[in-house]
Amino acid sequence: MKALQYRKVGEPPEIVEIDKPKPGPGQVLLQVTAAGACHSDDFVLKAPEGQFPYPLPMTLGHEGAGRVVELGEGTEGVAGIEVGANVVVYGPWGCGTCWFCAQGLENYCSRAADLGIYPPGLGSPGAMAEYMIVDSPRHLVPIGDLDPVATVPLTDAGLTPYHAIKLSLPKIVAGTDVVVIGSGGLGHVAIQLLRHLTPARVIALDVTEEKLEFAKSVGAHEAVLSDANAVEAVRKITGPAGARAVFDFVGYQPTIDTALGVVGTQGDVTIVGIGDGVAHARIGFFGQPYEVAARTPYWGSRPELIELIALAHEGVLDVATETFSLDDAPEAYRRLSANELRGRAVIVP
Ligand SMILES: [Zn+2]
Ligand SMILES: [Zn+2]
Repeated sequence: MKALQYRKVGEPPEIVEIDKPKPGPGQVLLQVTAAGACHSDDFVLKAPEGQFPYPLPMTLGHEGAGRVVELGEGTEGVAGIEVGANVVVYGPWGCGTCWFCAQGLENYCSRAADLGIYPPGLGSPGAMAEYMIVDSPRHLVPIGDLDPVATVPLTDAGLTPYHAIKLSLPKIVAGTDVVVIGSGGLGHVAIQLLRHLTPARVIALDVTEEKLEFAKSVGAHEAVLSDANAVEAVRKITGPAGARAVFDFVGYQPTIDTALGVVGTQGDVTIVGIGDGVAHARIGFFGQPYEVAARTPYWGSRPELIELIALAHEGVLDVATETFSLDDAPEAYRRLSANELRGRAVIVP
């Protein structure tokens, strides 16, 4: 079968021919129907020699959707996971039994590293292939008649902002302002989720007028250029109360500085983007409004993915996608890296 593999540190990923995998006991084989490309792949692909964290070669793709084609021994009888089922893959695989996993928070599994458990496309063979192995039916969510292409980005570009927003939901009451920095793959879903789940005014920040228009088209009330004047411009909108919650989907120093500059009393600063900025220099009694909290979530939980798929069935999420064939997947990554995509690149094998 064909697969998109990262083979040598520093070289672009390439399409190769590898053996079709066979599901072992407890595993499930999917025929991949859609696979999303993510900025965190780009981040990993730019890791220098010696710092690349996974064994090579590695099949990419941590957002996967597929049709169940073969059930490994002992996986029969799991609700909704029969041969032919249309599913998406919960990506942050954990051990399933530690305290975090017991809550469905496999993204924070305390044993995954020790046990050598890696997410697909981030250590285990991923979804950018004709077939993929899922290590447990627990990591599959049936999607019924939903379109795999439109739905696959929810497994990360949807799940990650959903998890981040849920942590701040009790604070985001009527009359508050919420700031979303970055309106790309994750940010544009975050804007829609905030509009659907909260009564807040949503202020989006991005770096071009075109992206600000896009942010408004998916529901942002206000859109502000993310530049050196951004704090002042946002403060003009929020007034002295500042923002009740700020979600930074970029995570580089300038955007984290903006986030800390616009957050108000009792506000949450949530740094989701995996840039290399840090907030520590600003957290301190005199550094922030009272009771500001900062957090750095990673991905989301299994129940949250089930909830998101329920939201998708309600038709309240419209994920912008551009589709590519598997042969064109290297081009999708090139455009992702050059910041030329609008919404999510989805590979359809
Ligand atoms: Zn990702
Ligand atoms: Zn665990």
